[in-house]
Amino acid sequence: MFADLHLHTNFSDGTYTPEELAQRGHEEGLHVMALTDHDTIDGCERMGKACEKHGIRFIPACEITAEVDGCEMHMLGYQLNTKHARFLKKLSHFQAIRQNRVKEIVHRLNKLGIPLSEQRVLQIANCDAPGRPHIGRALVEDGHCKSLDEAFKKYLKANKPAWVPRIKIAAEDAIALIHEAGGVAVMAHPGLNRIDQVIPQLVEAGMDGIECFHSRHSTPIAEHYLEIADRYKLVATGGSDCHGMNKGKPLIGSVKLPLLHVEQLLERVVKRRSEQG
Ligand code: AMP
Ligand code: FE
Ligand code: FE
Ligand code: ZN
Repeated sequence: MFADLHLHTNFSDGTYTPEELAQRGHEEGLHVMALTDHDTIDGCERMGKACEKHGIRFIPACEITAEVDGCEMHMLGYQLNTKHARFLKKLSHFQAIRQNRVKEIVHRLNKLGIPLSEQRVLQIANCDAPGRPHIGRALVEDGHCKSLDEAFKKYLKANKPAWVPRIKIAAEDAIALIHEAGGVAVMAHPGLNRIDQVIPQLVEAGMDGIECFHSRHSTPIAEHYLEIADRYKLVATGGSDCHGMNKGKPLIGSVKLPLLHVEQLLERVVKRRSEQG
């Protein structure tokens, strides 16, 4: 029995609808799925219903873009109360920042001589939480780049000509916000960010877990973070970070997390909620 606790839909930068994602999860034999769209939980209602049809347990979640020590990091929040008014208001604010950033990046691209419109990007994004992948897709579809990879390498990555830094919530504040919404906070794909030095301060701030298993973590990297999870009494989680079709095959199914980890995560939720009162 397995879980995938890191998945995206077209409510952010994934390409599958919630129904398509649940169907794919069912085909992969998953028993638990969490939807972790970027800065939104709007896909959770449909995902929950779609999972129910397949007998899959659903965990409402999201992936918040945060900052610690001047570095970007992604904080996953699990088992969130999706009706929590203040949490929803905060997410709307993060989405507004994303929408503004699209405008700024398009402006930079225009100054570089690329005739892309904001409307074109928003048409492709078709969601409240647009991101750089949507701009990348527009660049590919309109023939300005050969691939999404090229779009990132040439224009969109940090310090490339069309990159725009964005205001982010402090990681400690993201942890507090997730707790307030009844959830638990987990550091996403630490093997991609390599900011191990901040882990003690995030543990101090109440971080609950760390994503040891990820489609882009090698076995030694996963083992390294399992050791860190053990040292700091963090729940070890994992997921594919599937965004849809990827070079002919979706990433869903590439990480199969044993359910023991989900049980530990949910035990942590109970503990946090009892502390929150
Ligand atoms: P944003 O949320 O706008 O900062 O965009 C970050 C998202 O872009 C990540 O969550 C990934 O889904 C995607 N991404 C990051 N780097 C690349 C890349 N080199 N190629 C394709 N997608 C990427
Ligand atoms: Fe993404
Ligand atoms: Fe991420
Ligand atoms: Zn992700």
